[in-house]
Amino acid sequence: MFKPKAIYFEKDIVNYPLGKELMEKYKDIPKVEIENHNNIEEMRKNPNSEFANMKRNLIIGIRKTHKFVENHKTSDYLVPYTSSGCTAACMYCYLVCNYNKCAYLRLFVNREQMLEKIIKTAEKSEKELTFEIGSNSDLVLENTITNNLVWTIENFKDTKKGKLTFPTKFDMVDPILPLNHKGKITIRMSVNPEEIINKVEFGTSRLTGRIEAINKLKEAGYNIGILIAPVILVNNWKELYKQLIQRLSQELSEKVKKDAFFEIIFMTYSYVHTKINEEAFPNSINLYNKDIMTGRGRGKYWYKSQVRNEAEVFLREQMNKYFPNNKIEYIV
Ligand code: SF4
Repeated sequence: MFKPKAIYFEKDIVNYPLGKELMEKYKDIPKVEIENHNNIEEMRKNPNSEFANMKRNLIIGIRKTHKFVENHKTSDYLVPYTSSGCTAACMYCYLVCNYNKCAYLRLFVNREQMLEKIIKTAEKSEKELTFEIGSNSDLVLENTITNNLVWTIENFKDTKKGKLTFPTKFDMVDPILPLNHKGKITIRMSVNPEEIINKVEFGTSRLTGRIEAINKLKEAGYNIGILIAPVILVNNWKELYKQLIQRLSQELSEKVKKDAFFEIIFMTYSYVHTKINEEAFPNSINLYNKDIMTGRGRGKYWYKSQVRNEAEVFLREQMNKYFPNNKIEYIV
């Protein structure tokens, strides 16, 4: 159970039921009042070596921007929802956008407002819309602090239209198993080889737990997606990803294998990640490999197209072998 070192809070959060609840829950934790969750001066000034330590704090505020961004992958819109950032520390996390500005977990207490906007947008649309509510954080992790996932599913299940989806790297799914979600929720579990999880995805659930969680969620009637992501081309990547796909085919239940879909995403990396990781995790592996990566503007790196294409062919072969009947939505 995550126990924050300190709570940084906007004073108006107590005007919301969840804000009051969290202040009561953490009444014994030291508190710092802040003007704005977007700009916490003392965090911004911290050196990169403090990165993991900063993630032990919890920031609680009110979400002010509610702009939906169109998406054409497994949803119609990316929706800013009840949290941003995370207490875990995957070395490639794309939420590490701006040095120390937005990596730590921020909770937003105006959940009623956010869910209402989703419901209204869904009802106004002629088409059945799917909303991605987990693109800024990990909602299964967040749920252990706020119970927001349970709250969301319970308050969304009776709406006339719309579906929700989110990805996760965590296995604490038991609280949502008994809910009557009415088939409106798709949960996409992100997986990687055990060795990569251990060396790169600090603070997340291990592979065994994630596989068990997928099976339990399917048993509870949720729609299941599996993200093989991000694919990291370490030296022995072929062996690792082959074993992963084989293990999934052995350990996922028949129910899951019947209709789960896959998404495969190659890692992108950045100069910012390199700087933070070498100071925050000096003994960890270096994910930047100049021989197989190339710049893609604004300090970002991705795998050279030839390397990436060869890897895609390999992964498709493995998927055809072990999951011939499952759809791969995309490989990017
Ligand atoms: S679990 Fe997700 S949100 Fe958290 S650090 Fe890892 S990639 Fe980022």
